[in-house]
Amino acid sequence: MKRFHGNFTQQEPIAEDAIAAAVEVLRAGRIHRYNVAPGETSIVSLLEAEYAAYQNAHFCLACASGGYAMSISLRAAGLEQGAPVLTNAFTLAPVPGAITAAGGQPVLVEITEDLVIDIEDLLRKIDETGARILLLSNMRGHLADMESLQILLEENKVTLIEDCAHTMGATWNGIKSGNFGIAGCFSTQTYKHMNSGEGGLITSHDPAFMARAVMLSGSYMHYERHGAAPDKSYFEAVRLETPNMSGRMDNLRAAILRPQIRSLDNNIARWNERYGVIEHRLRAIPQVALPERPSAERYVGSSIQFRLPGISEPDALRFVRANLDFGVELKWFGSDTPIAFTSNHHSWQYIPRQTLAKTDEVLSSLFDMRIPLTFTVGDCEHIADIVSHCVDEIMTERV
Ligand SMILES: *Cc1c(COP(=O)(O)O)cnc(C)c1O
Repeated sequence: MKRFHGNFTQQEPIAEDAIAAAVEVLRAGRIHRYNVAPGETSIVSLLEAEYAAYQNAHFCLACASGGYAMSISLRAAGLEQGAPVLTNAFTLAPVPGAITAAGGQPVLVEITEDLVIDIEDLLRKIDETGARILLLSNMRGHLADMESLQILLEENKVTLIEDCAHTMGATWNGIKSGNFGIAGCFSTQTYKHMNSGEGGLITSHDPAFMARAVMLSGSYMHYERHGAAPDKSYFEAVRLETPNMSGRMDNLRAAILRPQIRSLDNNIARWNERYGVIEHRLRAIPQVALPERPSAERYVGSSIQFRLPGISEPDALRFVRANLDFGVELKWFGSDTPIAFTSNHHSWQYIPRQTLAKTDEVLSSLFDMRIPLTFTVGDCEHIADIVSHCVDEIMTERV
């Protein structure tokens, strides 16, 4: 087996049109979003209007990061200090972090083998805690049955905020992820579907929510200088009672992002072609279990997850190492100690300890791999061969 030499964290370069737009912002010197020349619309406002159109949402607010987008969405949705906030236990550290930043208490909900929220446990925890908000993390791009979830949350008077860091561009029955609750929160951090280094986007159909979010983001009294904001009457109601928690986006990042909206759908097709190649190969391996991808879901295959049910902890570590020896970087979610971006609920010690037997069981055999667009389809075939070889090696020795 030949070693693979690709880099799993190497994204594509920023396109020349985006670089040119960024240089233009630097030349103008007007980098702050509210620093506009007479008659000018700021680049951030243009980005907001364009992303709202892409998302089919009424309103959009650009801000500093995905984590920031979630924490001000929680506040704008009316989270009270100390109140419980439901979220699925399989997610990444910025999610419990955002709940904590907003003054909420994370209540972790079990996941299923298909890596989506467990509805039974969700209902139980709504009952037990009286939580009024669910921050649903569409972790690694896996969408729950969004229509059933929507109905169930409405019945229980629970407000939904979606963490769409991994579902930018994904749809459920043709509806864009992020449009199922009061808000969708997106990240434009380097490892997500658009890359501005850091950045966040919030979309919503709710004018009162969005007016509060804009005020929270630190709009001073410039709320009329927004690309996709509600009518100013909504601001008059909240402008003096909403704290400024500065976390704006600047024109430089917005300039880099605008052309990327136009390439998003093409990039999704490229991701899914690569995902398809790896998935097809993994499906042929009897020891490998892949999460089900419902036909209602149009996913974005920017990463792939699979399980080796029954694998022991030492074998899981050996499996990761065996792949790495061939240059393939897998993450294992079962580890009790956080590694780089990968952590699980055991390492979030600032929140009360919670028992999540089902999630722990799923995570103990779960492996995860990024699929950057710098990989060719041929690279993906090579990677799948290596993973398959390592499954053979580790899982056959066990028997
Ligand atoms: C990246 C990410 C976020 C947001 O991250 P930022 O780094 O704050 O932009 C939120 N949720 C998940 C699941 C993520 O992976």
